[in-house]
Amino acid sequence: MSALHSEHLTPAAYEVARVRQAFPILAQRIYGKPLVYLDSAATSQKPQAVIEAMSRFFLEENANVHRGVHYLAERATQAYEQARAKVRHFLNAEQAEEIVFVRGTTEAVNLVAQTYGKSQLQAGDEVLISAMEHHSNLVPWQMLCEQTGARLRVAPIDDVGTLRLDELERLIGPRTKLVAVSHVSNVLGTLNPIRRIVELAHARGAAVLVDGAQAVPHLRVDVRALGCDFYALSGHKMYGPTGIGVLYGRRELLEAMPPYQGGGDMILSVSFAKTLYAKPPQRFEAGTPNMAGAIGLGAAIDFLGELGLEAIAAHEQDVLAYAQQALAAVPGLRLIGTAQGKVGVLSFVLEGIHPHDIGTILDREGIAIRTGHHCAQPLMQRFGVAATARASLGCYSSVQDIDALLAGLARVRELFK
Ligand code: PLP
Repeated sequence: MSALHSEHLTPAAYEVARVRQAFPILAQRIYGKPLVYLDSAATSQKPQAVIEAMSRFFLEENANVHRGVHYLAERATQAYEQARAKVRHFLNAEQAEEIVFVRGTTEAVNLVAQTYGKSQLQAGDEVLISAMEHHSNLVPWQMLCEQTGARLRVAPIDDVGTLRLDELERLIGPRTKLVAVSHVSNVLGTLNPIRRIVELAHARGAAVLVDGAQAVPHLRVDVRALGCDFYALSGHKMYGPTGIGVLYGRRELLEAMPPYQGGGDMILSVSFAKTLYAKPPQRFEAGTPNMAGAIGLGAAIDFLGELGLEAIAAHEQDVLAYAQQALAAVPGLRLIGTAQGKVGVLSFVLEGIHPHDIGTILDREGIAIRTGHHCAQPLMQRFGVAATARASLGCYSSVQDIDALLAGLARVRELFK
């Protein structure tokens, strides 16, 4: 986790009040109370710069990309491809051709399952995931296994929510074709040792897909340093818009993969007898893409760059440490996910009180948290709960937000006395 803390950017240099001003939605009052937004793991709020970049696109640049010869088509294409270049730089991918725009993490995982997976896996092969996966990095693999006769295997976690690397290593066998793990868990906040997982998988000839949905807003990701084959992310969790995400794939893998969907923009030539497909990334971007979304994502990357991911991480770690300590002192509260070096996601249950009741009462105090199974039902089973309450942090979260949460929880306990 030390990589998150830069020597030259101290948390003191980070002015959360100023950061909050960049997010117009945070100035609202909810039921007459100041909004306390602690649901960034579900979706982050959007800074003015992202909103403006998208409206500027519609106001000044809108045209369909790639196919037009007129001025606006050129300009829109440039803006869209510039967004791809920003993503390449953001992830430190080698080439822009390795960046495929998709709807989000869910689509990225489905794309890999239905192209790479379907073309590479046979009956008896194995896909290895972890016990902390979001449904979107689980169900697509189950579907692939049903289609191919491959087998889904699951690496367990321990009681604090750390991945059992010894078990993961033991489970990577000669039939393992793919290891698919989250970089950061959306329920536990656990940060997984991706580089080590890649080493273990590659040593046995298995490819690695990383679900980075919860990692990219909180830490600097370098796909080349990680060595992973695929990396998936969602724009809306990193201060960008919904409906846009990224699949990073190593070029030689993408080039060998069949298309995902057929249609316009993904072809070289079409005749009734035969269609030749375009090279990646176009091969995987059939149809008119989410141009404004890509441009908004590019603006979100600029925003993260201006704040500095290391500074954001250091700030969030401070708020997380404060929150963990304070929540642990609440009578009857059990924190789920306390792994070392975790990221700002706090799942908890309160003895005798249903998480939905917690969420509903907090809402009336203007506090937005998440309650439920968080699209990770097997993980809920692992911890013996049906649901949890989850407070999750973003770059705008403050200790005042945590104080408001604590006051809200005191009110919840009072009402259930
Ligand atoms: N993976 C993780 C770890 C997530 O937290 C989420 C969303 O909550 C997803 C995948 C799915 O992301 P999306 O719904 O943006 O496709």
